[in-house]
Amino acid sequence: MAGNLLVTGCAGFIGFHLAEHLLRAGQPVIGIDNLNQYYDPALKHARLDLLKQHRGFTFLELDLADRAGMKALFERYRFEVVVHLAAQAGVRYSLQNPHAYMDSNLEGFLNVLEGCRHTACRHLLFASSSSVYGGNTKLPFSVHDNVDHPVSLYAATKKANELLAHSYSHLYRIPTTGLRFFTVYGTWYRPDMALYKFADAITGGKPIQLFNNGNMRRDFTYVDDVVEAMVRLIGRAPEGDVNWSGAHPDPGSSKAPWRVYNIGNSRPEELMHVVALLEQGFGRQAEKQLLPMQPGDVLETSADVSDLEREIGFRPQTRIEDGIAKFVAWYRAYHNVDRT
Ligand code: NAD
Repeated sequence: MAGNLLVTGCAGFIGFHLAEHLLRAGQPVIGIDNLNQYYDPALKHARLDLLKQHRGFTFLELDLADRAGMKALFERYRFEVVVHLAAQAGVRYSLQNPHAYMDSNLEGFLNVLEGCRHTACRHLLFASSSSVYGGNTKLPFSVHDNVDHPVSLYAATKKANELLAHSYSHLYRIPTTGLRFFTVYGTWYRPDMALYKFADAITGGKPIQLFNNGNMRRDFTYVDDVVEAMVRLIGRAPEGDVNWSGAHPDPGSSKAPWRVYNIGNSRPEELMHVVALLEQGFGRQAEKQLLPMQPGDVLETSADVSDLEREIGFRPQTRIEDGIAKFVAWYRAYHNVDRT
């Protein structure tokens, strides 16, 4: 296991699951989160309460954009590993509140990079997103594809994170690993995500909204698989060009210790199939409201995970039927939904 390890966004969906997994394995975790109101803070507090039951867990309420606070955090703990998952997430919200994305995803990310730079962090892993593939029509999406055409502000900030990480990796030899997550779902899920909204609507007797008339395919990836991939990657910091040793980077020849992986299931599912599984799980029919395509949305996502498989010997594998069943069971318990 690692020395001091930071998880940013530890009260969030993926950060909570990762922190919990590491703590159970005996790895102490320092977590930060600003507990913002993008979605119900009670859910974030409930996740935190579970993490706080572990003796190895230290929590600090801190905003990524707080430059002095972030500097002090890194100076105090001098992290060996940083897993950066805090961000302003969501594609559609980026149309309404663009500044939140600049503050958290750009300014905040720079503070993480600066912290890593000044404390000689040995591995920075950070959340990117399948949204960087934009309107790509060549499927499956490969990390070797050109991703210079993001179609939402959220995606643009995630692509920018990959570029900024590359520059810091190149300039300061910080090993960085970007994680392009593909529609992660599971227990302790995010209420702003489509599956959760469908669950709310189905249990509340309200119509579900299906954009592009429901004609979409998503590479749904179960959160436990995502955590397993991350845990394996933590111990595999990219090495870059081992011959490069100067204090002044040579832009022509140095190969930065920088990697990006797709973290996806590689089995895109029809949205309508997923709705049918939810209907089955809750034992209720959904009233379906068919709507046009939303700006910034894409028709299909599908991950080529061959790099991941080759390098860590693992690929996400939870079947959608099993993953949805776990989500429904958690949702029922958390919301105290009576069985029908
Ligand atoms: P989440 O919103 O549940 O978690 C993010 C956490 O970060 C939240 O608890 C939030 O309070 C915190 N946060 C946000 N801005 C912050 C700031 N300025 N300072 C400190 N804390 C802040 O989202 P998630 O689903 O757990 O996503 C984790 C990461 O993975 C994000 O970077 C997201 O963009 C990325 N991602 C997620 C998915 C997915 O399907 N869930 C897909 C692609 C990428």
